[in-house]
Amino acid sequence: FRAMSDEQAKAQTATPEEDTIFDKIVRGDIPCKEVYSDDRVLAFHDVNPTAPVHIIVIPKNRDGLSQLSKAREDQKDLLGHLMYVAQQVGAKECPGGFRVVINDGKDGAQSVYHLHLHVIGGRPMKWPPG
Ligand code: 5GP
Repeated sequence: FRAMSDEQAKAQTATPEEDTIFDKIVRGDIPCKEVYSDDRVLAFHDVNPTAPVHIIVIPKNRDGLSQLSKAREDQKDLLGHLMYVAQQVGAKECPGGFRVVINDGKDGAQSVYHLHLHVIGGRPMKWPPG
């Protein structure tokens, strides 16, 4: 028996529509270690890193984008921009390579319902993920 991690436990109960911790970070209500910011996107260090580099990339305006599977056609440009920013951040922070992850929904172990890309690296990554 292996206990669920906090993140896995949260993933079981989080609901898609409530105000998230990332909305609070965007508003400046709670602090973050910022890595990149522009008019649409914010990137900051994950508070509970899974590797030497673990950066979260989010849209500043959630606008229904609680998770990837809720993305609308008119958000394709934003989705591309998020991936581009992930690439910029990853290439800068992890010159040897990196991983980009999006957890979606309960089975995807998503715990924060505000779309976000994880940029993870700074060590050789294992495959497959759990
Ligand atoms: P998910 O499990 O939804 O894919 O990822 C959520 C991520 O957000 C987790 O890696 C978790 O450590 C991170 N996180 C949760 N709360 C905070 C916070 O208040 N600040 C920061 N910087 N990261 C957070």
